Amino acid sequence: VTTRHLGLDLGGTNIKLVVLEDEQVVQRASEPTRSEEGVAAVLERLAVFARAAGPVHSVGIALPGLFDRDGRAVLLPNLRGDWVGRPIAAPLEDALGRAVHLINDGHAFALAEARVGAARGAEDVLCIVCGTGIGGGLVIGGRLHLGVEDRAGEVGHHTVLPDGPLCGCGNTGCLETMAGSRAIAEAAGQPSFDRVVAAARRGDRRSVDALERAAAFIGIAVANLMIFFAPERIVVGGGVAAAGELLFDPLRAEIRRRAERVAPLAAIEIVPARLGADAGAVGAALAAAG
Ligand SMILES: [Zn+2]
Repeated sequence: VTTRHLGLDLGGTNIKLVVLEDEQVVQRASEPTRSEEGVAAVLERLAVFARAAGPVHSVGIALPGLFDRDGRAVLLPNLRGDWVGRPIAAPLEDALGRAVHLINDGHAFALAEARVGAARGAEDVLCIVCGTGIGGGLVIGGRLHLGVEDRAGEVGHHTVLPDGPLCGCGNTGCLETMAGSRAIAEAAGQPSFDRVVAAARRGDRRSVDALERAAAFIGIAVANLMIFFAPERIVVGGGVAAAGELLFDPLRAEIRRRAERVAPLAAIEIVPARLGADAGAVGAALAAAG
């Protein structure tokens, strides 16, 4: 008997949905989050969307931030509305009549890319997802490492520039403030990250420099983690990774410069993510399937 596992990814812009059968995506859908309509409306939309996918054996939901063990929101900075302290799992479990598994979106990305994406077959994997925010996850021996209170993997708040810009988390010089898509667009003087990439491809010096600088900061974080963790594969994804070689060339150069003599660089592959926008929903479905 084939089992069907539903994964939802609640993002700031869109809610993504996949259904997995034997770890293959057999259904996918997306609709706008419209978080400005408030928490209750978003939860209702998730429930309606989930039901429309038909009968499934498990349900997982990736959230863009932190939640507690009781399934209440702690910090979801990219969603509008008053989420802090609001139950998420309970109302969805009531609406769907079944258990709902919550997972952080960085963890979901890591689980998905490690299990069925760019790091399939590797046991020890470090994943970084660079968008507006930067998150990630660590897979050790094929299993996602959640850490105490599921808080492992917050690589976006890795200090890469002491006394750098103030971050939303209260620290200064976090990776996210130097290499998040918004930070890169600002540094390049462009209205959006996509415009930075387009300008850089046309040879715009300021945009090329902004991408190289961000890549160097991501490289510092990756080199530090790589030296300590020595994973088989490192997966870099998210909107920023869409810059392709404009990002990966300087990123690899920075890692070589910092880690070449210490980490077994020849044995560690640094690869772009493969699952694209599906990764969060796929990871949520995999986590719920167990
Ligand atoms: Zn921070």
